[in-house]
Amino acid sequence: DLPAVGQGEEERGQEQQTRTEVFPYPEIGNEELEEINQLVAPVEKFFNEEVDSAKIDHEAKIPAETLNGLKELGLFGIMIPEEFGGLGLSNTMYARLAEIISLDGSIAVTLAAHQAIGLKGILIAGSEAQKQKYLPKLASGEHIAAFCLTEPGSGSDAASIQTRATLSEDRKHFLLNGTKIWISNGGFADIMTVFARTEVTVDGVKKDKISAFIVERAFGGITSGKPEDKLGIRGSNTCEVSFDNAPVPVENVLGEIGGGFKIAMNILNSGRFSMGSSSAGMIKKLIELTSEYAATRKQFNKSLSEFGMIQEKFAVMALNAFVMESMAYLTAGMMDRPGLADSSVEAAMVKVFSSEGGWICVSEALQVLGGLGYTKNYPYERYVRDCRILPIFEKSSDWSSVPLSFLCSLSREMKKGNIGLALGMMGKKLKSSFGVSVDLGLIGKDGVVHPSLAVRTSCKSLKDLSSFFYLVCFPEAQCFFFPGKCKETIVDEQLILKRVADLVINLYAMTAVLSRASRSISIGLRNHDYEVCKVLNILRRNRSSAIKHFLELNDHFVIIQSNSNLPNTHI
Ligand SMILES: Cc1cc2nc3c(=O)[nH]c(=O)nc-3n(C[C@H](O)[C@H](O)[C@H](O)COP(=O)(O)OP(=O)(O)OC[C@H]3O[C@@H](n4cnc5c(N)ncnc54)[C@H](O)[C@@H]3O)c2cc1C
Repeated sequence: DLPAVGQGEEERGQEQQTRTEVFPYPEIGNEELEEINQLVAPVEKFFNEEVDSAKIDHEAKIPAETLNGLKELGLFGIMIPEEFGGLGLSNTMYARLAEIISLDGSIAVTLAAHQAIGLKGILIAGSEAQKQKYLPKLASGEHIAAFCLTEPGSGSDAASIQTRATLSEDRKHFLLNGTKIWISNGGFADIMTVFARTEVTVDGVKKDKISAFIVERAFGGITSGKPEDKLGIRGSNTCEVSFDNAPVPVENVLGEIGGGFKIAMNILNSGRFSMGSSSAGMIKKLIELTSEYAATRKQFNKSLSEFGMIQEKFAVMALNAFVMESMAYLTAGMMDRPGLADSSVEAAMVKVFSSEGGWICVSEALQVLGGLGYTKNYPYERYVRDCRILPIFEKSSDWSSVPLSFLCSLSREMKKGNIGLALGMMGKKLKSSFGVSVDLGLIGKDGVVHPSLAVRTSCKSLKDLSSFFYLVCFPEAQCFFFPGKCKETIVDEQLILKRVADLVINLYAMTAVLSRASRSISIGLRNHDYEVCKVLNILRRNRSSAIKHFLELNDHFVIIQSNSNLPNTHI
């Protein structure tokens, strides 16, 4: 019942490829580094000197001059290719800029709604003519984009949208009817990617399928509601958008008619990795802001910074930021390498880890300030409010990104054997009993982890946990992942799925920090000792929480097996 252990040439090659996806940690060339430094400096200056986040939050609006400044810096066209007037940055460079842009949540959401989701469909599924027509004005910020998927009756369950597009009698237009809600930039967007049901004929049978459309506000029949009065990211514009017989030319169908749901998921998947660097950027800023206070504020005749429990808060923030960065840049590097497997599973893991970790860290930062943190005189309460949106939008973290889309992809990738993390190479190497040594290729003669890390407990943790995952979880999980064997669907086993997802995210985090620290030691990076120290802490912490998840999982399996005739594989 365990994964096959025999290892042929093909499997060895596959493992080698999987390992090189995560080891060595991606590095950027000097030219790219120079380019990113030139870009970062003016953006940092602009955010430090020109952006008044308290005012944006208070007035629930980004001033026109701030938007103009962002446009002049090219920030509306970060990932649009240069041939269409954008900056044409790689995913890695986008992640670096996201660290700065995230310092103002309202601006970050406005820019993300425009390019990470609003115009992304044109980039990934648009025809050459659509790109030529729309991208230049979107790149300059002359036109602003929005992404219209959510409806009153369709939130997490995106496939249940009811907005309809009907082909006109002359077959030149689709007439769009329906209402979208919670649309970022919805009050003023000129160009919208709208998802609607359309009638398609498959093998002679008429079916309802979702299609994607590029819709110009100028087409008419479009109205926007009042901006929502929100808890956080208050300066970003969130509105209802209604379509009343809005005529959309047939040439504005994005991709294939009926292929819209896949486009929507691809758009959402492709942008998620940057949440890691944006959250890390925000946490690093919070550490900077709170550390001075902790060093100068005295209670019980001591500085706050001398108390262990305050030090622990800084440790939580520093470690979380380090993991988020490591995961985000590892994933961005994978996405930047041509020819590698789809990284949407890794991007979803970065999103889940960062949105949940970000929330913990802003709360810790506010706590360091005590009562002062709770007032509007300081930015901490705003960070708490702004950060709370992260697990909610782009499909919420509690269930959809983790267990469903994530685990479905995970099981698919497992079946294909090409999940882009250390897991892929682990399963095939296991023997069918516990206590057998497992060679992950991490240490030893051709090991990918730096020898000075390999001798410590770090690799052992990752190795043990991975072995445990495959010996305990994998055979059990097969019952759920592989249709026909036990269950047709994994959707109903949320508690099991959540714990499996937590485990895999844990393993990816460990892989990312080990890979990053190995590289830092190898190239003699300044302060690499500090990185090693952080990595060892992270591995210890992750190991403990993984063991807890394993035990909980085992309990679930015991219950399920006692209610069924499945072979007993739990421990
Ligand atoms: C500020 C803001 C900006 C937004 N911007 C956009 C945008 O630009 N474009 C766009 O299309 N949408 C946008 N959204 C919508 C956002 O993507 C949705 O809010 C999100 O997908 C969740 O949908 P919902 O609010 O309807 O919650 P629901 O789907 O009703 O879910 C409510 C809660 O139940 C949980 N839940 C739902 N189903 C299950 C299940 N099967 N099992 C367990 N738990 C479940 C959810 O995780 C959530 O915690 C935005 C939302 C906000 C708040």
